[in-house]
Amino acid sequence: MIDVNRQGEVWVFAEQHNGKLEDTPLELMSKARRLADTLGVKLAAVLLGSDIKDLTIKLIQFGADKVYVVKHPLLQSYQTNSYAKVMLDLIHKHKPQIVLYGATVTGRDLAPRIASAAKAGLTADCTDLQIGDHKTAKDKKLHKNLLFQIRPAFGGNIIATIINLDRWPQMATVREGVMPMPEPDVTRQGEIVTENITITPEDLPLEILAEHKRPKKVDLKAARIIVAGGAGVGSRENFKLIWDLANCLGAAPAASRAAVDLGFIDRDHQVGQTGTTVRPSLYIAVGISGAIQHQAGMSQSQKIVAINNDPNAPIFQVAHYKIIGDLNGIVPKMIKTIKEKSIKEEMAINPVEALRLSNEVKV
Ligand SMILES: Cc1cc2nc3c(=O)[nH]c(=O)nc-3n(C[C@H](O)[C@H](O)[C@H](O)COP(=O)(O)OP(=O)(O)OC[C@H]3O[C@@H](n4cnc5c(N)ncnc54)[C@H](O)[C@@H]3O)c2cc1C
Repeated sequence: MIDVNRQGEVWVFAEQHNGKLEDTPLELMSKARRLADTLGVKLAAVLLGSDIKDLTIKLIQFGADKVYVVKHPLLQSYQTNSYAKVMLDLIHKHKPQIVLYGATVTGRDLAPRIASAAKAGLTADCTDLQIGDHKTAKDKKLHKNLLFQIRPAFGGNIIATIINLDRWPQMATVREGVMPMPEPDVTRQGEIVTENITITPEDLPLEILAEHKRPKKVDLKAARIIVAGGAGVGSRENFKLIWDLANCLGAAPAASRAAVDLGFIDRDHQVGQTGTTVRPSLYIAVGISGAIQHQAGMSQSQKIVAINNDPNAPIFQVAHYKIIGDLNGIVPKMIKTIKEKSIKEEMAINPVEALRLSNEVKV
């Protein structure tokens, strides 16, 4: 077990593949910056790999005070054993108080291995992180400046705050897209600490011959407009309505988990707690009930239009514009009007006015 070091730094594992940083550690950086400032300690990024020369500057520009760099040919490709060994050596040496990871495939593999070896706690898939105090009920002892690891629990029906009193470092993974991507500050300066850690071929149980990564079919996080369909769309064939509406708006097609599970569209398009978290200018939810797990991924959209034939559907609680009725009648009318009157841009700016203008759809 690692000593509790109350002056320890806040760390972000700077996941990279083939010399390119993943988005999640960069997204994590703004939250980690605030945590470090609240605690009055330094924020450090930990960068492991082989071809990583240019990434340190980027990490500093995104908020790191320091970057610990471990550069080694044997760290070219991610492997659980070698990366966990290096991270553990660094954690034992520097005793950070908080270590954060993206809940990516790599983060989900690496963080539990480190937690188990360091006998530290780990909360997976956090949606928020805060610093706070906690008084234990039993002995009324006040624990100051703990990491509050906040995440949905019991199928998303409650939001749990998880703390870790004495098994440090406090560790958490955070899902992609949950934290907004900060703007880089190109004037920021930071310290680069090169760490020499012994690593031998015996630390790598696998020989990686080639790597194949399937690119995502859609980049929902970057989309300005999203048209999402749910189980209410009815079938994979009828999901063509969602594709058509998305196409005429230059939008990204998305879906609820139920629509994905029913095979209407590929999983890369899923929005929600176990899908992607999005914040587009406009989110059009078609035949989606608006379960809490779906809302978790889209409620921060700037404008939400919901089309549903149930006036009591929960999606209407977060929608700015409600269209109550049968999607099979409404969506073709929307497509027709958007095409005829070229109101694509107006839809993105003020969907309700654009739809009123159409005189076809009652909003
Ligand atoms: C741990 C966990 C994680 C989850 N993660 C996610 C997630 O990431 N994303 C996600 O979406 N869900 C997630 N879910 C599932 C979630 O709880 C819901 O089951 C799911 O979101 C429902 O999808 P839906 O709204 O498309 O389907 P339904 O709940 O079946 O709703 C269909 C809606 O369509 C409407 N409708 C039907 N016919 C029409 C019509 N002709 N015209 C207009 N409206 C019509 C109905 O009124 C209804 O509101 C998760 C669940 C759990 C337990």
